[in-house]
Amino acid sequence: MSDFRRRHLLAVLAGVSVLGMTTGGALAAPSKRQKSVKKPTPTVPMDKPKLVFLDPGHGGRDPGALGGRGTQEKTVVLAIARELQRELLAGNRYRVLLSRNTDNYVALRERVARAQAAKADLFLSLHADAHSDHDVRGASVYTLSEEATDREAAALAARENRAGMVGLGMKFSEQPDNVAQTLVAMSQRGTVNDSRRLADTVVATFARNGVRLLPRTHRQAGFAVLTSPDIPAALVELGYLSNSQDEKLLTVRQHQLALARALRASVDAYFGATRKA
Ligand code: ZN
Repeated sequence: MSDFRRRHLLAVLAGVSVLGMTTGGALAAPSKRQKSVKKPTPTVPMDKPKLVFLDPGHGGRDPGALGGRGTQEKTVVLAIARELQRELLAGNRYRVLLSRNTDNYVALRERVARAQAAKADLFLSLHADAHSDHDVRGASVYTLSEEATDREAAALAARENRAGMVGLGMKFSEQPDNVAQTLVAMSQRGTVNDSRRLADTVVATFARNGVRLLPRTHRQAGFAVLTSPDIPAALVELGYLSNSQDEKLLTVRQHQLALARALRASVDAYFGATRKA
């Protein structure tokens, strides 16, 4: 049995199939450490575990940003997403799905559709950027907006939205043509405010945990992958692969773990505040 088939089977056995997404093959398969996780008990828990949807950017034929030493964005963000998945599952407080759990290509629109079909409570897209100025480094967090807060955020959204078109020629369906419409639905349902609160929470938690941040850390633009009307969503750029120090850090397991822990603390803080409110 291939490794993929085995993980797929494990995911089904772990009961994730109730989400009706097993055919996608991109489910968050339980990691080795979670093999002993008991099947869900038939009683309904008092506080239903929140479903966190993690979206490691790019994948397959789309490598994303490239570092000077050849580091590929798609590889580091998947490694960090897996660490974050482990962190979140360890507390038994969350369910976790990944938009992809292998080096495969998933269209941006498909990522949004999967999160919506699963009725995720939170959507976190993980990326690492590149900049023509190799001195630029640090993390930044983005939420959806029709008008970008600045030129750089607009350019970043354009880059990330183009990701879906690699190798496909021009695939206009990946353009976020529905941003305005989505934002109307989002503000009616309070998702705009929740997304902003999520982004601000990530920024604050990163700062508290010593994760280096860009100035004006929370910015907004028309990211196609952030267009689920019901799901608070943020896109996190974890650093710059164009900066040699950031590139090195992003490949070091200890730093990947530190980022995953800071993101887990962000998710905790976000839901903690939600519970109080
Ligand atoms: Zn990216």
